[in-house]
Amino acid sequence: MREKEKLIELENPKLKMVRLGFRQILLREFKKRLIALLDKESELLGSKTEEQRGSILPEERLIVNQKNKLRNELSASIVVCAACTDIEGDHIFTSRNKVWYCVECYEILEESYAKEIEALKRLN
Ligand SMILES: [Zn+2]
Repeated sequence: MREKEKLIELENPKLKMVRLGFRQILLREFKKRLIALLDKESELLGSKTEEQRGSILPEERLIVNQKNKLRNELSASIVVCAACTDIEGDHIFTSRNKVWYCVECYEILEESYAKEIEALKRLN
């Protein structure tokens, strides 16, 4: 593991269950908010007049921005692995990508990154 990376590791099975419970609550809240935005968007699209259909309304743009912000917040959080969306395991923060990965994805991505660096070095 590189120096600026942070592994949050739990060994106690009870603590792991508590962590999973919190992550499930946060994920449910994320889904609830996303569904509310999708409903709002759907309602807005349905109420567009014929002449509005070819353009993006300011309210529509606002909803798209809110959906993107919500998705970005989730993928940047420790709740899910940014690669495989795991919510159960220990997660590692990577300073390079500024996101959290599960240990398995982190190892795969690090190995891949190291191979890419080696390949680039051979090109020079
Ligand atoms: Zn993962």
